[in-house]
Amino acid sequence: MIKRHLFAISTIALACASTAPAQQSSLNIYSARHYASDEALYQDFTKTTGIKIQRVDADDAGILARLKAEGSASPADIILLVDASRLWKGEIEGLFLPVKSKALDAAIPAHLRGKADAEGAAQWFGFSTRARVIVYDKTKVKREDVDTYEELGDPKNRGKLCIRSGSHPYNLSLFGAVTEHLGEQNAQLWLKGMVDNMARAPKGGDTDQIKAVAAGECGVAVTNSYYLARLMRSDKAEDKAVIERIGVVFPNQSSWGTHINIAGGAVAKNTKNLPAAVKFLEYLASPSAQEHFANGNNEWPVSKDVRLANPALQAMAGGDFKRETIPISIVGMNQVKVQQMLDRVGFK
Ligand code: FE
Repeated sequence: MIKRHLFAISTIALACASTAPAQQSSLNIYSARHYASDEALYQDFTKTTGIKIQRVDADDAGILARLKAEGSASPADIILLVDASRLWKGEIEGLFLPVKSKALDAAIPAHLRGKADAEGAAQWFGFSTRARVIVYDKTKVKREDVDTYEELGDPKNRGKLCIRSGSHPYNLSLFGAVTEHLGEQNAQLWLKGMVDNMARAPKGGDTDQIKAVAAGECGVAVTNSYYLARLMRSDKAEDKAVIERIGVVFPNQSSWGTHINIAGGAVAKNTKNLPAAVKFLEYLASPSAQEHFANGNNEWPVSKDVRLANPALQAMAGGDFKRETIPISIVGMNQVKVQQMLDRVGFK
């Protein structure tokens, strides 16, 4: 009922967008993207449309909490988050407006958007993708022993695994996807296997895991691809030494493909500027923005029409790689289940 009502509003506003100029000339964006390179993107949008951008920076959880606290008084028009399970959370907490847009539907594959409602409107859209990859110590570990996610929980890798907290959104999303592929029972056994294989209790971020592998503290670790690309593109001698020592695997190339997560966006539920907000999301899906959006943070564009010219990504993936194709909204739906399994097996 509520959804239908909201959709009606968005349809009307969209219709107006094509005939009348935007009534307000600025947008408030709450962003969890903290990449200096995005600044040029916003400037370009303002130059083409005359719509100014004001940005509030916070992390995913902080933005969702703020939206909830502000309620209907929220000045937010656009929400940019960096994880599918957080986007899903925003949706089920009723913080976004459903949007139906031909441009967004054409540019963004259906499995990288929120679940469409009866009218085909989605509440959030992925704009770039990152792969959750495996890195290993080339001096101690054989590539064929760590080329699937399943092997991270295999007894042959006892005492070797380093990984950030299981409750971090990047891991919740990966584990939610694996649960979809393996079924809940096997997924829990796999999580238990990883706990048994840990070289140390989970701590730090993804870059810390990569560095711990290079330092010999662990044999194998899990990281988002862009952290690795950052090190690969670095001129610092110590970063070069890290890259020298580690191998990279895009897991599950002969089964369901490597898990990918998204950075994405949504229109805030209480926007007073819907036409401009939709225009901004459509701009993020345009070829020039896609190129910039992805390259700036070493990610892959979602649009198939955009070619990526990023040497670190090409080198890392050996050209291209097989991606997981399950609807990304599933990782959100599996989140509670995953957290319960983590508690049961003692995965901190
Ligand atoms: Fe990150």
